[in-house]
Amino acid sequence: MGKLQVLHIGLDDTDSKDGMCTTYVGAVVVDRLIDIGAKIIDYPHLIRLNPNWILKTRGNCAIAIKVEAKDELIPSIKKMVLKTVEQLAELDHETTNPGVVFLKGENIPEELGAFSRKVIQDIVTIDEAEELAKRIGAEFFKFKIGRGIIGALAAIGEELEQDFTYELIAYRLPSNRGKERKIDRESVFKMNELTYPDTFDNIDLNTGEIRITPHTPCPILYGIRAESSWIAEKAHGMVKAFEPIERWVIYKANQATDEHIKSSKISEVKPYRSFVVEGEVCDKPRIIVGGHVIFTIKDDGDKIDCAAYEPTRKFREVIMKLAIGDIVKVYGGIKPKPNLPLTINLEKIEVVKLSPIFKKLNPICPLCRRRMKSAGKEKGFVCKNCKQKLPRETVIIGEMPRSITVGIYEVPPRARRHLAKPLVRLSPRIW
Ligand SMILES: [Zn+2]
Repeated sequence: MGKLQVLHIGLDDTDSKDGMCTTYVGAVVVDRLIDIGAKIIDYPHLIRLNPNWILKTRGNCAIAIKVEAKDELIPSIKKMVLKTVEQLAELDHETTNPGVVFLKGENIPEELGAFSRKVIQDIVTIDEAEELAKRIGAEFFKFKIGRGIIGALAAIGEELEQDFTYELIAYRLPSNRGKERKIDRESVFKMNELTYPDTFDNIDLNTGEIRITPHTPCPILYGIRAESSWIAEKAHGMVKAFEPIERWVIYKANQATDEHIKSSKISEVKPYRSFVVEGEVCDKPRIIVGGHVIFTIKDDGDKIDCAAYEPTRKFREVIMKLAIGDIVKVYGGIKPKPNLPLTINLEKIEVVKLSPIFKKLNPICPLCRRRMKSAGKEKGFVCKNCKQKLPRETVIIGEMPRSITVGIYEVPPRARRHLAKPLVRLSPRIW
């Protein structure tokens, strides 16, 4: 009888824009692991990586699975995982470069945890990943150039000990992939009504759009995001599908946690990363071609543009209400565009303090109580009715009501990144 071993399995970069999904490869691996007698510890992990990096895959997610198995089973587990990736990955695509990592032992080295944070918030090279794997004794397999070993390592290293969510993903039969998804809309609305906010991002209430079904030719029929695995399973039982479900899996994920966002000063923000920056609005919001809304904030002498793009719809109306002097915290990613200044692509905004807006008003006539008129430039006021005159200094400075309140505002679900934490998750919840 062999000794029991813990083995971490990491996978990444198996999909392309035309199909497949690394979560599906993970789901198949999970089922095959169970078939060969390995015990899965905890839920498999779905880890979203830096969403701003140009070399990302479609959803930029990697998978980690932790198993316990007898010593003698380990070689066949590794063989099965590699075979599954070879069989399912979109290897014909130039940009699909899978990577698989195996790490033995219960404990995750500290260095690997730090590496994961870097992959989620920053940029890492294949060489860096390879060197780290060698240092910590992780075994890695590269398909083609093997960029996937970066995400595969990062997924193993993110233990989800802080904030996390769950996603139950149901997959379609291969024969249905690429065809229209057949789901009973009513059942999704009903599920949302009964389980929200313990499930979230099911529906975009502004547009009535069902958000649990993707719009790509990938194998996913739907994915339900939830605060707990049992709520996800319950919600899954409420959704009616008019096509067979090939298999489903529950992932524990860093989705909807804001893990990609780093607190920063304007002078420290860099392209291809995401930040939260506090600053003062120093340029009025303006609408540009394409329906995007842009404004500028400043902190200690530095300035940066912030944008609410057209797909954020009503969120732009909130942004238009900002005024010079308002203090805001902006959350978002930066993708450089040729010939344009660095711009934070807003995911959320916290209005911390509103600056008062004043308006000059003509005084009321002290004799007949009518609003007086200007007597000419710098000449004070005159009453058209009784000819009473008042000097310039009697002008009334009135504070205007603001049409926005202090608080946090977010883009609608349709424009939200997988990693962005929705407001509904910010409020404390009671179980
Ligand atoms: Zn008068």
